[in-house]
Amino acid sequence: MYLDTRPGRDDKLNEDYVAAAVNSTSARAVLLDGAGGPSELPTGCNHGTPWYVNQLGDHLMFNIRNPSTPLTTALALALDAVAESHGVWCDLNNPGTPSSTVVMVRRINDLLEYLVLGDSTFVADANGEIIVISDKRIDAVGADLYRAMAALPTGTPEHQAARVAFVENQRRMRNKRVGGYPIASNDPAAAYEALTGSFPCDEVRRVALLSDGATRFIEFGLGSFADALDLLGSETPERLFDRVREAEASDPIGERWPRAKRQDDIAAAYLAQLVPL
Ligand SMILES: [Zn+2]
Repeated sequence: MYLDTRPGRDDKLNEDYVAAAVNSTSARAVLLDGAGGPSELPTGCNHGTPWYVNQLGDHLMFNIRNPSTPLTTALALALDAVAESHGVWCDLNNPGTPSSTVVMVRRINDLLEYLVLGDSTFVADANGEIIVISDKRIDAVGADLYRAMAALPTGTPEHQAARVAFVENQRRMRNKRVGGYPIASNDPAAAYEALTGSFPCDEVRRVALLSDGATRFIEFGLGSFADALDLLGSETPERLFDRVREAEASDPIGERWPRAKRQDDIAAAYLAQLVPL
């Protein structure tokens, strides 16, 4: 098992979260990628996105210990609990209230279950096939605003202004039934919109949970999902992180790989021991 996360910037707290636990009868892992957004935009929250993902992640790790709690229910309960923890001074109806992607995986006995909400990724090497599950519904929201941002050099005031407009629109469309996308935030019902499924454990050799900072490895053409699994299972798993950072550094203004942030937070979890003992 390997897990790690690295912040995208030295002057900002990491908004990714990753945790895993493995014992003789079960394995579970949770990866979150919080949507922080530009500091120009208000959030109505006194805690901040790093607090939010830490709270949500810890609740999820606890909730999914119970094999009789479905992953969707575990997420809905965690969303409720974290909403409660904000307290009365935070305005959860603010469109910028903290939100996060969620990837969860759980092995109970001989079944491996997963849940994906938002554009983080679950990868399984099952029966020799690489299965990739990511919830890209967010990509359909504000695609025109994204293109306007991507056309501008990262790091310039013009790019930043376009990014603010893009994020503002994304925030407005969170958990909207029409034209929106489900995400972990202030609405527990979003949990039931997640992509879920399961595999018999003996078919699965290894799995990975990746934030979109980590899937830049594939997006930038540095390798395939299978290569990413190989690297994460190798003697030097941190090379996945290094290679993404090297690529980002080689393209500081986003000419080759247009993107919202020069460097993003990266998180990855890799589990290979999935067959019950
Ligand atoms: Zn708060």
